[in-house]
Amino acid sequence: MSQPEPFIVTERVCKAFGTQQVLRDVSTVFNTGEVSVIIGASGSGKSTLLRAINRLEPHDSGCIRIDGVEVSDDPATLQRQRSEVGMVFQQFNLFGHMSVLDNLTLAPRRIRRTPRAQANEQAMTLLRRVGMHAHVHKYPWQLSGGQQQRVAIARALAMQPRVMLFDEPTSALDPEMVQEVLDVMRELARGGMTMVVVTHEMGFAREVADRVLFFDQGGIAHDAAPAEFFEYPASERIRAFIGRMS
Ligand code: ADP
Ligand code: MG
Repeated sequence: MSQPEPFIVTERVCKAFGTQQVLRDVSTVFNTGEVSVIIGASGSGKSTLLRAINRLEPHDSGCIRIDGVEVSDDPATLQRQRSEVGMVFQQFNLFGHMSVLDNLTLAPRRIRRTPRAQANEQAMTLLRRVGMHAHVHKYPWQLSGGQQQRVAIARALAMQPRVMLFDEPTSALDPEMVQEVLDVMRELARGGMTMVVVTHEMGFAREVADRVLFFDQGGIAHDAAPAEFFEYPASERIRAFIGRMS
């Protein structure tokens, strides 16, 4: 095996909302080509960490680096890093007044200046990958939740990101639609995409993750390979959490 290459590095990242400390000295590394799954109770700071990586939420202290470059408010850096970091949210966040195709081509055309024909072609390739090529001219309201989330993943991929962040991508879905979205994510992982996934899907964590991180009260309480994480829970708290989620 080759040496792990750090892609995202966080060093002692802290964040408070008012008097509530939400991230406490979060230091970790997400390596190129690895799938890291973050689990933990609601309110433990998982979304805040992903949002800080994408600068949707500035952190108070500590440092986040993406491919060696510190995340900051410098506009040029911010724009480049945002296009390198794809994000998929719990609520699919598609542009409601735009067709599936336009949802995918908007950012490449506006930000990357990709010509329309080429953007359309790339979009079709991505939509085929997520099994949505038959729905290009539909609008989000004509799609099921699972279909919308697959389009949202394709839309994030359209910017050719180097890492994909997923924030509970299946939590808002009806149970019968969860698998189709996890299947798309599994394929993406198989293709070597660097992924950081916040999820309560323990099966996905076991099968797909290279690492599982357990978040507790704003910090990483445990970090292990899935086999170890699930077979030998490091604390009673983790054992109980896994039990509730499985
Ligand atoms: P998780 O994703 O693990 O459920 P979050 O990162 O969303 O946790 O939130 C951690 C804590 O920070 C929660 O108590 C939440 O209420 C609080 N919080 C998150 N975002 C904000 C915000 N914009 N303003 C105030 N409090 C927030
Ligand atoms: Mg969250």
